[in-house]
Order: sequence, then structure tokens, then C-alpha cells
Amino acid sequence: MDSFVDAPTERIPGVVGAGLPVPLVDGRQVPYAHLDHAASAPCLTAVRDAVNRLLPWYSSVHRGSGFTSRVSTRVYEQARASVRRFAGAAPDASVLFTRNTTDALNLLGRALPPDTTVFRFAADHHAALLPWGDAKVWRLGVPARPEDALRELDDALAATPKGPRLVVLTSVSNVTGEVWPVAELAAAARRHGARVVLDAAQLVPHRPLDATALGVDWVALSGHKLYAPFGAGALVGAPDWLADAEPYLAGGGATARVAEDAGVETVTWSDLPHRHEAGSPNVVGAHAMAVACDTLTAAGWDAVVGHEKALANRLRQGLAELPGVRVLGMWGPDHPRVGVVSFTVADRSGGPVDQELIAAALAAEHGIGIRYGAFCAHQAVHRLVGGAGGDARALRASVGLGTTAEHVERLLTALAELLRDGPRWTYRRDHEGWAPAPDPRSAPEFLH
Ligand code: PLP
Repeated sequence: MDSFVDAPTERIPGVVGAGLPVPLVDGRQVPYAHLDHAASAPCLTAVRDAVNRLLPWYSSVHRGSGFTSRVSTRVYEQARASVRRFAGAAPDASVLFTRNTTDALNLLGRALPPDTTVFRFAADHHAALLPWGDAKVWRLGVPARPEDALRELDDALAATPKGPRLVVLTSVSNVTGEVWPVAELAAAARRHGARVVLDAAQLVPHRPLDATALGVDWVALSGHKLYAPFGAGALVGAPDWLADAEPYLAGGGATARVAEDAGVETVTWSDLPHRHEAGSPNVVGAHAMAVACDTLTAAGWDAVVGHEKALANRLRQGLAELPGVRVLGMWGPDHPRVGVVSFTVADRSGGPVDQELIAAALAAEHGIGIRYGAFCAHQAVHRLVGGAGGDARALRASVGLGTTAEHVERLLTALAELLRDGPRWTYRRDHEGWAPAPDPRSAPEFLH
């Protein structure tokens, strides 16, 4: 079964929860097959260990005079260097810690100079599609071919007057796993004097990021997709727009001085990076993210990519061969992609199947976690699936460092069975979708 895994597995960083037994409705327990890495990846064991090492020393950062506060401050500030290096950003790039990619892109959205025009593709994740406030937004479509994306962007930039312009690019589609032609699109943006922000959320767990080589001004990423689920993300890139902007959040930490003179209150905001990090920062999250960055780099991308490629190829090929399964893609089967595969299912005669029920049965009867929905990329899913209005839905399986060949084979076998015979258990819809009824699985003890 493991024959198609040819990566140097000894260099694959371990994840917390590997082999975790989960209950099935028939009373058995099986090791959990986590095939939802694109939503959130499990924690690296190296990250967990680093967090455990930090915790006794943890203290609030900046201005604390205690020794642990000084240690925590160093940890926090050093984390910026790791994330900057990992992103391949310029030495003077600012690294702002945020909650996640959504937060990072919203931060940039609030820092746009007046009269900025924003260009973005309808295929983007909502985190990249929406946070542009009052800016003029130029809507680009879901391109039928990568060349169309380039042409559409070029035409749009040529048609808009000069002035501040921001092109929003996605590194990797969270629906299809396809890699966008970022370097080419960024070069087109630069030719027109536009700035570029890259949503790197789905790239960094799978491939190295080199913001400088790609020619992008900012990158946004999430720790929880990068095997560091401690609530931190980052916006990395050019300081200029960020330094000139009003603070993202107003409050302590972002202020250099607040004074009252003759009844007038004056606030002097801090410089970067503190200007946009008001409130007590997430030291543990920033450290966890930095350790994940360093661990992936140290493992070597050949190992990480090798591990995933074999699994992803088998997953895609196995799904494509199942009767009734349609694998979704924008740009054809040979386009470069990572291990994120969305698909729809139908019965043998092509009739409709309740996809959400399939996802529920995979979990309840086989211990497999995949995702059902429109993945916060409604327009992309709608374009690829078709159907009425914004109601198109699909299933998504995604692999990562925690995935084994057995997980993939289990999914393929279970899905084939479900499409052939239907679920073996009974299910009822509740407010969260389909749930086994009855559900004899007990929650872990700490939840009781
Ligand atoms: N961008 C892409 C491509 C994503 O896949 C996601 C999350 O699924 C996001 C942005 C948003 O990430 P977060 O939820 O961590 O803010």
C-alpha cells in the first residue's frame, strides 16, 4: 500500500495527533484520516515542543522589566525574522503579526492610500476578495486559462488611470489546488506601476515562498495552515503604505504618546511594526509560527513536496477513476497544483447524491475528515460546479505532512462503497448538517 510513497520520509516533520484513534458509529476505533489540511493543518510536534519550552518563560512583551518579559520580547521579535526569511521578503520588509490571512489582508485593506483601485479575481478566497472597504474595486473573472488571467489583468491595468493601484493575487486555489502564475501576473502589475499583495495561505504549507523572486510587495499567511495552530498569522512586505496608514486597531502598544495640552488630546502613533499591533501581542502564536517556518525549511522542500506529490497524485487519479466522481479544475489536469482536490459526486446513473451526507458518512463510518461546501470561494465553486445561483457545493480532500498512503486509500475505497451502496448507518439533519442518528460515539474525556 505504501509503494507510491517515494519521498525521504525520515525528513518529514512529525505532527501531533498522528494515528489518533477516533470512534466510528459501529463501535470500532480507527486512526483518524485527516484529509482537511487545506482548512487547518495539524500542529507540528516541533511546534508543540517549542511552545512547551516557551510557556514557563512566557510573559507579556515590550516594556516589562522582568526577566521573562525580556525573554518573551526577544522571542516575539525574533519570530519576525524567521517569518520574513521564510517568506523570502526583503531585509527591510515589515512583518506584522495578525490573527490569520483574513486579518492580514484586512489590515492592508485599511492601509490603502486614498483613491486606490484594487484589482482582484472572482476565483479568490473571500479573504482576498472582500476586505477592500471603500476602494474602487475592479472585478476580474474566473479565468478559463492562466493566459486569460494575464490578459485580463493587463487590459484592466491599461484601462485605469495612474494612481495607487493594488493587484490582489492568490498563490494557490483553495478549491482546486492549482498554482496561479504569480510571477507573470506580478510582472504585469509592475509594468503598470501597480503594487501586489499575495494571498499565500495555501502555498506555504506545500511549496517554498519567495516574495522577492515573485515580485510581490506583500504576502499574507496563516499559522494554522502552516502547522502552527496558535492563533497567529502575518502580513509581510513593503513598509511604505503601512507606515503612512492610521493604525489598524487603536489602543495601547500602537501609541508612542498620548497627551493633553490645553484641553486638547493628542495621540502620536508608534512606528512600524507596533503601529498596527495594538493590544497585547500573541507571543506564543508568533513563536509557534516562526518555529513552523524554521522546521519546514530545515526539513527541506524536496522532502515536503516529495511526500505530498505522491499522495496528491494518487488521490487525484484515484478520485478521477471512481464512477460518478468529477474532479474540479480550472486549467486542465497538467497544470501545476498542490494536494488540494475538490470534486463532486453523482450516483452511477449520474443522478444527484447528497454530498454533505457522503462527507458525514465518511467521518462516522470510516474515520475520515474531508470538507463539504463552497470553501469561502463561492464564485470559483459556482463556475466549476455550475448549478443555480450561489448554491453550488462540492467535497474537498487535502493532504499534508500528516497524511499517509493508507488515509488516501481508505478514502478512495470508502467513497467507492458509499457511492455504490449508500451509507450503512442512519442519519438525521440538524443545524450543523447531517449527523448519525443514533450517534453512539463518545466525545473525548476532556469534553465531558
Ligand atoms: N486564502 C486562502 C486561499 C484560503 O484557503 C484561506 C482559508 O481557507 C484564507 C485565505 C483565509 O485564511 P484564514 O481563515 O486563516 O484567515
